[in-house]
Amino acid sequence: MTSTSESRAVSPCDCGDTGFRTVPRDDAICRIEALLKANRDTTLMVGVVLVEINQYQRIRASYGYRFAATLSKLVVERLNKELPAKVTVLPLGLSEFVVLLPDLKIRQQLGLAINKIQRIVFELFSVMDSSFRVNVTIGASYSVDKSVDAPELMRLADSSLLHAHDSRLPQCIHDEISDEQDEFPFLELQLDLERALEQNEITSVFQPKVEMRTGRVVGVESLVRWTSPIFGVVRPDLIIATAERSGLINNLTFQTLNNAILQYQRWGKDAVPIAVNLSTEVINDPALMRFISRRNIWGMPVEALTLEITETAFMENPDKAMEVFTEINAMGIKLSMDDFGTGYSSFEYLKNIPIQEIKIDRAFVDNMRHERKDRLIVETVAELAKGFGLRVIAEGIEDVETYHLAMDAGCDVVQGYFISRPQPPDELVEWLHRNEWYRP
Ligand code: C2E
Ligand code: CA
Ligand code: CA
Repeated sequence: MTSTSESRAVSPCDCGDTGFRTVPRDDAICRIEALLKANRDTTLMVGVVLVEINQYQRIRASYGYRFAATLSKLVVERLNKELPAKVTVLPLGLSEFVVLLPDLKIRQQLGLAINKIQRIVFELFSVMDSSFRVNVTIGASYSVDKSVDAPELMRLADSSLLHAHDSRLPQCIHDEISDEQDEFPFLELQLDLERALEQNEITSVFQPKVEMRTGRVVGVESLVRWTSPIFGVVRPDLIIATAERSGLINNLTFQTLNNAILQYQRWGKDAVPIAVNLSTEVINDPALMRFISRRNIWGMPVEALTLEITETAFMENPDKAMEVFTEINAMGIKLSMDDFGTGYSSFEYLKNIPIQEIKIDRAFVDNMRHERKDRLIVETVAELAKGFGLRVIAEGIEDVETYHLAMDAGCDVVQGYFISRPQPPDELVEWLHRNEWYRP
C-alpha cells in the first residue's frame, strides 16, 4: 500500500505554488476496487472515510486562497504521517479527502479510525505564521456486504457525509442511516410539520432532574413530541433534523419555549425550573434574543429557565455562541452544555464560557458499568467542571448501579429512566406528588 506522496495516480491541479495535488475520484474508486479485490477471499473489510473541512469557503474568503490551499496540504501531510502506513490518504479536492482503510476486522475499527482522524486534524495547524484549528465532517462506509463494489462503497460514503451535514453530526457511517429516512419522505414530512406548527400540534414532555445530595427534583427538561396524522409518532431527533433542514427550527423552538412558559404558569405552586433545548440555527438567529428579552410577558421568573445547547453545536461557531451566551446570561437565564464529551471543546473555551451546567453525555454514563475508562472520564469531567464552578449532570441513568456510580464519580444531578421517563405535564405533577424524589 502506498501513501499519497508516492502515489501513481496523482495529477497536478492549478494550485499555485502550494504544491497541493488532487486525485480524480475515478482513481480513488480504482484504488478501492483493488483493496476489495485483495480482500475478496477473506473476512477482512475495506473502509472508505470521506473527510471534509468545515467552512472551507469561509476560510478561503477570510484568509485567501494560498492560506486555504496550504492548510489543505498540511492536513493531508499530517494524516499521512500519523495514520498507519497501510492507510491511504487521497485529496479529492481542496476541502475533501478520502482515507482508505485496507483491512478492517470489525466495524469498531472503523469507528476508532474516524475518532483518530478527528483527533489528528483537530490539533492546531501552523499556517503561514498563524495558528489555525480545523473542524471536519466525516462520512464513511465499509464493505460489510461482500457483494458491494467500489463505486457503491464510495456512494455510501458520500451519502453518509451528506447525512452527517443534514443532521449536524460530526460523523456518520452508512449503517447508521436508518430506513426511516425512506419511510418518511422528507418533503411530505416537512409539509406536515409546517402544518403541525401552524396548528399547535407540537407538544412537550418533561423529564425530572434530581439532585443527588438531597434527592430533590431541581428541574425538568422539556423534550419535543409530535404524532403526525400521516406518519404517526415521529422520533424527536427526526423532528428536529426536519425542522433544521427546512428552516422551521426557529418556529419550533419558539413553540417549545412558549409551551415551557405556559406550563410553568399552569403548574402554579408545583412549578419547577424548566430546561429547553436549542439548536445551532436558533443561536445564530437574532429573533431568539428578541423572543427571550420580552420577559415581562413571561409569567415565569427568568432564573427558572435553562437553555441547553450541545457541545457540538457550540463548537460549530464558538465565538458567535460565546457572544450569544454572554447576552443570555446577562438576562439571568441559565445555560447548560449538553452531550458533553461528544464534541471537541478546547479548555480555552471552557475556561471562559458563561455556563452554569455541564451534562455528561449518556454514552459515557451508560458505559460506566462496563468500562473503567468511562468511569474515569465521568470522574474527570465532574472534577474539572466543579473546578470551574459548574453543576454536573449525568444523563441517561437507567439503573441503580449507574446511579451509585454517578454519585461516586461526583456528579451533582442525575436524569434518566431510572428516576423517570419524560412525562406529559399532568402526569408529571401527579408523579411529583406521589414520588419520594420530590421534596420541595
Ligand atoms: P437530549 O437533549 O440529549 O435529550 C435527552 C434524550 O435522552 C431524550 O430523548 C430522552 O428521552 C432520552 N433519555 C432520557 N433518559 C434516558 C435514559 O435513561 N436512557 C435512554 N436510553 N434515554 C434517555 P428524546 O426525547 O428522544 O430526544 C432526543 C434529542 O432530540 C434530544 O437529546 C435533543 O437533542 C433533541 N430534542 C428534543 N426536544 C427538543 C427541542 O424541543 N428542541 C431541540 N432543539 N432539540 C430537541
Ligand atoms: Ca438536552
Ligand atoms: Ca443530552
